[in-house]
Amino acid sequence: DKMTMEIHYGKHHKAYVDNLNKAIVDNDKAKDRNLDFLISIAGQLPLAVRNNAGGHYNHSLFWTLLAPAKGQQPGSKFMEMVIGSFGSLDKFKEEFAKAGMQRFGSGWVWAIIKNNKLLISSTPNQDNPLMDVAESKGYPILALDVWEHAYYLKYQNLRADYIKAFWNVVNWDEIEKRIKSSEGK
Ligand code: MN
Repeated sequence: DKMTMEIHYGKHHKAYVDNLNKAIVDNDKAKDRNLDFLISIAGQLPLAVRNNAGGHYNHSLFWTLLAPAKGQQPGSKFMEMVIGSFGSLDKFKEEFAKAGMQRFGSGWVWAIIKNNKLLISSTPNQDNPLMDVAESKGYPILALDVWEHAYYLKYQNLRADYIKAFWNVVNWDEIEKRIKSSEGK
């Protein structure tokens, strides 16, 4: 809904950017480096840099994966990978929702590509699958924010309903593009 998205982008995402800029000032490893680099060495950085760099990276990606609800459907590359790894789209959605429900506290759910295979993973806080510290590493093609700030105004404690509604606003075209750019990674 409009208010959630305005607060999410204008306040929460902005705070990650502002706090990242503050956190890198006095850090020789982090200042003057780009965001991709900070993500790749997140485990070696102070928590304030890791959390806010992750926050900026994850939200910047998340916005590109959303689109107005127009009944759009997954593309052919994605479906091929889903059938290969999960057997059906319903099974994929079920596993994705399960990962979202099992994430205790705050974090993210991901669909990642690793060795040309589609996997579902989840990270705590603002970590992501590109970080050196990630339990399950890979190239993210789909991301869902399961922090309460992402859904609380409309869904309150009903995270499952928020996850279900997410499928109405997925930008499947962008996911096809990300699968293409994952080739060779
Ligand atoms: Mn968020």
